[in-house]
Amino acid sequence: MNLILFGPPAAGKGTQAKRLVEEHGYVQLSTGDMLRAARASGSELGNRVARIMDEGGLVSDDIVIDLIDEQLANHKDAPGFIFDGFPRTVGQAQALDNLLQSRGMQVDCVIRLVVDETQLIQRVTKRFEEEGRKDDNPDTFAARLEKYNQDTAPLLPFYAERGILREVDGMASIEEVTNGVEKALKETA
Ligand code: AMP
Repeated sequence: MNLILFGPPAAGKGTQAKRLVEEHGYVQLSTGDMLRAARASGSELGNRVARIMDEGGLVSDDIVIDLIDEQLANHKDAPGFIFDGFPRTVGQAQALDNLLQSRGMQVDCVIRLVVDETQLIQRVTKRFEEEGRKDDNPDTFAARLEKYNQDTAPLLPFYAERGILREVDGMASIEEVTNGVEKALKETA
């Protein structure tokens, strides 16, 4: 089972992905986590993407596609993949199709966490205070949300047309969202 957890920043994708990893042993592929790790290691890639990330922009498709390609190759025996924060553009979505197809796989399910954007601001303010993630500050978060609406939300019809898009209320409790995600997966299987 290969699924995409879809939704704006701070919708709860990472939290749900970790639960799916525990429950099903799927491999979580979060491009945001990979890029943060690259920055923390002080690598050339990390330095190249730092400014874009701090401004709430999107790093280039080529960079994140390469990261995903590398991780797919590193986890050949995975029972499934959870794509978290990827794809974020039409180009990335097409590349993902190609990467999976070349390995005899496909995107089986796209689970959209439906959230109220105004309430997201409160969620992120809390996360900013607790975790101190620089790009969670209100100005940068507004830029990230705008990027989502401009570049990422247009992918929804792309997956809806294939009949693999499921929606879950992302404003419910973490437990309820998990139940919704599991239900969506059962309906897909
Ligand atoms: P996230 O943790 O998924 O919100 O990602 C944090 C930041 O990393 C984003 O605001 C982007 O600057 C960058 N990023 C993560 N994933 C992608 C992606 N798929 N495409 C482009 N930029 C990304």
